[in-house]
Amino acid sequence: MQIKAPRGTYDILPDEAVKWQWMEQVLRETAERFGYREIRTPMFEHTELFHRGVGESTDIVTKEMYTFLDKSQRSLTLRPEGTASCARALIEHSLYNGTLPIKWYYIGPMFRYDRPQTGRYRQFHQFGIEAFGSRSPYLDAEVLFLLVEILKGLGLPAYELHLNSVGCSQCREEYRRKLIEHITPVKDRLCADCQVRYLQNPLRVLDCKEKSCHQAIADHPTLIDSLCDDCRDHYTLVQKALRDNGIEFVHDDNLVRGLDYYTNTAFEIHIPGIGAQSAVGGGGRYDGLVESCGGPSLPGIGFALGLERLLLALDKYKGVPPAEKQVNVFVAVMQDHLEDRAAALLYRLRQQGIAADKDYNQRSSRAQMKLADKLGAKYVILLGEDEVKGGFVTVRDMKTKEQRKVDQEGLIPFLQERLDNC
Ligand code: AMP
Repeated sequence: MQIKAPRGTYDILPDEAVKWQWMEQVLRETAERFGYREIRTPMFEHTELFHRGVGESTDIVTKEMYTFLDKSQRSLTLRPEGTASCARALIEHSLYNGTLPIKWYYIGPMFRYDRPQTGRYRQFHQFGIEAFGSRSPYLDAEVLFLLVEILKGLGLPAYELHLNSVGCSQCREEYRRKLIEHITPVKDRLCADCQVRYLQNPLRVLDCKEKSCHQAIADHPTLIDSLCDDCRDHYTLVQKALRDNGIEFVHDDNLVRGLDYYTNTAFEIHIPGIGAQSAVGGGGRYDGLVESCGGPSLPGIGFALGLERLLLALDKYKGVPPAEKQVNVFVAVMQDHLEDRAAALLYRLRQQGIAADKDYNQRSSRAQMKLADKLGAKYVILLGEDEVKGGFVTVRDMKTKEQRKVDQEGLIPFLQERLDNC
């Protein structure tokens, strides 16, 4: 039986990989321009971390984690998201004692056992940022400016930014009560999951994927009406900063992060027209997260963007700038017994920083020229008996088809000068 990549995973072949490289470069450059630095954490963590840092009642923890026992019977989990690992690293290295806020970005694969479809995979990639150690609403605004700047940098300005405030633990407690009162009389119309969770976590009913749940609780009380003065002021300032800087958004009463440690700002970003999975990213403030992971009380805010979905949007709307050609110079060898000379010349070119290649399958001269063209070579160096005897090489300009003799010594500067001017 042919072995294939596991369901929900896929290969990124070189023609696709160049798109990823371009996208990742835009992401890194933009985050660094905003003062965020890269963090790399392990691909697997102790399972307990995600129970605490993602939440016991979430779909991720209850249904989607790749959890396994290692040979020492430790329960480990392939990371389903990046925030909990960042909180763990911050606590483990006591970074909360240093300069705050800490501003990090990460990029890499995440793993969730979900039903695969377009835009949804079991191994997928996220770019995320986290800022720990400030409650300032202007930090919330910065995070949103960064999100929008990334989409602009990718050439995807047609997004929809949904925004809400989920308040603090106090105002949310009052809201929970109101919501349970509202839901109880219609609880039989909820989906099976929500019937179980609405008493423990009624906010999850608001972001349930089932339409019937939304219909059952239509005209539910809104979070925004339950915010305390501090939370209301925070939200007002975030919205004002966005408006002052020309960033469009829609206030969305149904957007919640149904977990205790999420606070204040919550957001999601959609790109319409890329299919059922139109959310390219989401995030918010999580002032209780570091504490739930076993650290001190330290506020934080962040977001994660799904890279597969960004690529879907790029493929649909804009494409990705054409990749650089593979090589600049091709060494064409005219006689088999000159292979060693060609190999030495090729190595010399590469040592001097020139991207170069040759044939390894004894192609004819014509076929070598074709290959050179396919690889995008701007110059071909022809190496035959005459050249070796005379101590020179013949350099062919692939654009003008002009050929000229260049002595061995002068070859590197000759090529460097021309390639610099390309
Ligand atoms: P979340 O961590 O669930 O808020 O997800 C943040 C973003 O990651 C989403 O908006 C998606 O773009 C992306 N994402 C989440 N789960 C998947 C998945 N299974 N496959 C592909 N992308 C995903």
